[in-house]
Amino acid sequence: MAAEFSSIESVLDDKQAGKLVHIRGWVHRKRDQKELIFLVIRDSTDLIQAVIKKDSKAWKDAEKITIESSCELSGKIKKEERAPTGYELQVDDLKIIGLAERFPITKDLSEEFLRDVRHLWLRSRKLTQVLRVRSEVFRAIHDFYHKEGFTEYQSPIFTTQACEGGSTLFEVKGFDRKVYLSQSWQLHAEAGIFALEKIYTVAPMFRAEKSRTTRHLAEAWLAESEAAWLDFDGLLKQEEELIIYVVQHVLKTCKKEFKELSRDTKDLESLKAPFARLKYADALKKLGKKWGYDLTDKDERELVAQLGKPIFLTHFPRDMKAFYMKPDPKEPKTVLGADLLAPGIGEISGGSERIVDEKELQKSLKIFKLKEEDYGWYMDLRKFGSVPHSGMGLGIERLVMWLTGMPHIMDVVSFPRTLYRLSP
Ligand code: ATP
Ligand code: MG
Repeated sequence: MAAEFSSIESVLDDKQAGKLVHIRGWVHRKRDQKELIFLVIRDSTDLIQAVIKKDSKAWKDAEKITIESSCELSGKIKKEERAPTGYELQVDDLKIIGLAERFPITKDLSEEFLRDVRHLWLRSRKLTQVLRVRSEVFRAIHDFYHKEGFTEYQSPIFTTQACEGGSTLFEVKGFDRKVYLSQSWQLHAEAGIFALEKIYTVAPMFRAEKSRTTRHLAEAWLAESEAAWLDFDGLLKQEEELIIYVVQHVLKTCKKEFKELSRDTKDLESLKAPFARLKYADALKKLGKKWGYDLTDKDERELVAQLGKPIFLTHFPRDMKAFYMKPDPKEPKTVLGADLLAPGIGEISGGSERIVDEKELQKSLKIFKLKEEDYGWYMDLRKFGSVPHSGMGLGIERLVMWLTGMPHIMDVVSFPRTLYRLSP
C-alpha cells in the first residue's frame, strides 16, 4: 500500500471526487449487507463512509474487521449525499493493522462505566472535539499574554503556605516538614513582578475538594496573571480582553468542533466588553439574602441568567476572601476582588488588587488568624520597593465547559481526578 496518506478531512472535497486516495484510521461503525459492507472510518480530523463490494479483494478483511480496529484503505472518492459526511470511499484495498477485540463501549452506557473505561472513551467523537477546543484555549491564552508583553513565569508546585484555605490542601509525604501541593501560583508570582513586571502562567493546581459538584476537580489547570502597576479596574479590563480574545480565537478555529458538539455559538459571537459589574451587596438584594451569605453555584448561575451576560461580582466582605486582597478605601469592609461568573457555570475566575502596605498586610494576617512568621519572605515583598499590583486565576476547565457547553467538568479533561476517581 502507498505510503502517502491523506487526512480524512482533506479528502472530503469536491476536488477529490473520482481520485484515488489512501487513508488510515479506526473503524467507527460497521454495517453489513449481503453484497456490501459499510464502514465508517475515523481519524483525528473527521469521519468518512467506506464501502466495500463483495467482488472486491478487500471483502474478506472487511468481513473480519471489527469496531475500533485500525486499518489502511485505498479507493476512489465519490460525492454521496446519504453518507454521514457527504462523501464515500469506494474501497479497492483494505489492510487491517490492529484487529480489535469486542469493544466494550456500546450505546446507552452509564457515565460511571464510561469513566471506568476512560482510556477507550477518549476516542469518542464528543471527547475528541472537546479536547481540541481545550487545546485552542491553551494556545489562545499563551498568545494573548505574549501579545500583551507578559513573561511566562513558573511558581513551585511544592509549597509550605496555604494560599486558598487550608482545608483543601494535599499534603505530600517525603519531606522532613509539612509540604503541600500548590493551589495557586500567586504568592510566588508576587515576588516575580518586581523583576518581570507582567507575568503569567498556565499550570496545574491541586485541591482536595470533598464535595461532589459539576465544577470541581482535585487536579485542575489555571491560567494566572500578576502585574505591577495594575489597579483593580485595569485588572478587570485585562480579564475581559483575555476572555474575548479566547472566545474570538475558538470561534475562528473550532467551527467544526462546535458544530459536531451541537454548540450553538450565538451567545459567544455576540459577547462584548464590558461585562456586567455587580457588587456583592447588590447581588444579595437580587437574591433576597443578608450580609455574610455565601453565594452557591446556583445563585451565581441565576445572577448571570438575570443579567444575560458574564458578571464581575465585586466587593465581597473582607473575611469571605483571602488575606492579601486590598480593602476598598471607599468601602473598607469590602475588598477590591472580583469573581467572574459565566453563563451556566458560575465562577470561572477570581482576582484582586493586592495589599501593598506592610502594616496593612500585618493587620490582615491578624484578622485571618495567620502567623506573620509563616509569611516572612512574603512580608519582605512589602519592604523593598512595594508597588500597586493585581492578579487573577482563571479555571481553564470551567472556561472550556462554558465554551463547549459541556455540563460536567469531567467532560473537559482527558483523565479527570477527584477524591473519588484516580484511575484510569
Ligand atoms: P469555588 O468557590 O467554585 O470553589 P474558589 O473560590 O475556590 O472556587 P479560587 O480559589 O478563586 O476559586 O480559584 C480560582 C479559580 O480556579 C476559580 O475561579 C475556578 O475557576 C478555579 N477552580 C477553583 N477550584 C477549582 C476546582 N476544584 N476545580 C476546577 N477549577 C477550580
Ligand atoms: Mg473552592
